[in-house]
Amino acid sequence: MMQTSTQTTHTSVNTSRPVRTRIAPSPTGFPHVGTAYIALFNLAFAKAHGGEFILRIEDTDQTRSTEQSEQMILDALRWVGLDWAEGPDVGGPHAPYRQSERADIYKKYAEQLLNDDHAFRCFCTAEELDAMRAEQMARGETPRYDGRYADLPRAESDQMAGDGKPFVIRMRIPKNGVCKVEDMLRGTVEIPWEQVDMQVLLKTDGLPTYHLANVVDDHLMQISHVMRGEEWLNSAPKHQLLYDYFGWEMPILCHMPLLRNPDKSKLSKRKNPTSITYYRDAGVLPEALLNYLGRMGYSLPNDAEKFTLDEMIESFDIQRVSLGGPIFDIEKLNWLNAEWLRELTPEELKNRILDWANNSDKLTAMAAAIQPRIELLSDAVNWGGFYFQNVPKITAEDFNHKTLSAEQIMEILQLAIWQLEALPKWSEDNIYATMKGLSAALDIKMRDFIAPFFIAIAGSSSSTPVMNSMWIIGADMTLIRLRHAVDVLGGLGKKKLKKLEKTAQDLPDFLASE
Ligand code: GLU
Repeated sequence: MMQTSTQTTHTSVNTSRPVRTRIAPSPTGFPHVGTAYIALFNLAFAKAHGGEFILRIEDTDQTRSTEQSEQMILDALRWVGLDWAEGPDVGGPHAPYRQSERADIYKKYAEQLLNDDHAFRCFCTAEELDAMRAEQMARGETPRYDGRYADLPRAESDQMAGDGKPFVIRMRIPKNGVCKVEDMLRGTVEIPWEQVDMQVLLKTDGLPTYHLANVVDDHLMQISHVMRGEEWLNSAPKHQLLYDYFGWEMPILCHMPLLRNPDKSKLSKRKNPTSITYYRDAGVLPEALLNYLGRMGYSLPNDAEKFTLDEMIESFDIQRVSLGGPIFDIEKLNWLNAEWLRELTPEELKNRILDWANNSDKLTAMAAAIQPRIELLSDAVNWGGFYFQNVPKITAEDFNHKTLSAEQIMEILQLAIWQLEALPKWSEDNIYATMKGLSAALDIKMRDFIAPFFIAIAGSSSSTPVMNSMWIIGADMTLIRLRHAVDVLGGLGKKKLKKLEKTAQDLPDFLASE
């Protein structure tokens, strides 16, 4: 962990530039509530200072970024009520707003750094880097790039590049001293340079890493304030140095506290649903979700619990953000949502219910799943109801099985939870491969193995095909139902979980044959 020390003085909000903030999501998964939280504070800050809020897609990681994820993120942020003045979907004066369409720009700036000797080419192969890491670890050191190409004479570096030897471009980092970074909430943060690595800026494929693309774009898009999660604080020295190297004014930084689970660990889908889509599907009103996110480490001067986005903007003061990790607690969110619901007229509520069902991505997939089974439209209520529930009403008796004990069932469910939450992509194929693989590894016939999943997911043993249902209701909704089932069955104690973790570690990779 990086050693940081902070002073309590607050950095001024003021800059001579017009206020422009941004959210810069990477489209590598489901739309995360943390993205909406950071976007909300950026938007509120910009609006409170008469500025603009924009959206940029950071898809430089070509292996993990997908168009589908980008679309889901844009849809989810819009659904929750956040709007951007510029972005990949709405255009703007600094287009393109998708980093994958800006490769030439970053290349030019990487070359500029190279020519100014603020960066160097590194010709290390993957094997060389692995060996370096292994040697450092054997010596008990923290693995890091040792700078072996930093002093290669430029002529030699040009020659090797000219010969077609693959290289990355890394930035130079001072060897000694301390980097002082100003943060709006944290004051001066000091990070010793020796803890900062010689960051790769441009990869072998000529594409930038996050750090280069982020700095170049924030500059070109005239971003005045960068509000982002505190996990980026350790990157701030590199970014500050890049601004210095380029001779650009750095945006004012503000690292927001991370959302946490009720047990104070970092909010993760292992413990809590994190996808905005889950909250939408469970029936949280967008206004209520935004209101709840606005209360994460923040309060209005009048301490109101229920407030609209406009009310938040009206009295917005970034210095009211408290750094103690805000707890994202579903029960409190549900309570707040109920407050919002109670205020609607029956007519409004009816419309909200219809919209909620109608806007759900799962409606068509659900219709396809129940179509072979229904005689009347009204049968959809019985066959399709569970798709729309949050958790089904079930008891331990519902799981009674002729060969599997409650204990075994909990173990199966828990192993499936671990496997499913680690899936790189929530697809029917991946779910199927996981479930089939797990039943084979545990040597339990698929028919027996799958039975408890019907109860956990659909609340009934006679239902539409359960793996298809899991896919339709989504990862977060599936996981919350499986965890609920384990709880209903009494739960696994700490000791048993430890033992089960060992079993889990020995399981093969079920997706390996994909
Ligand atoms: N693409 C980064 C992310 O996914 C953006 C971080 C930043 O705001 O600088 O969080």
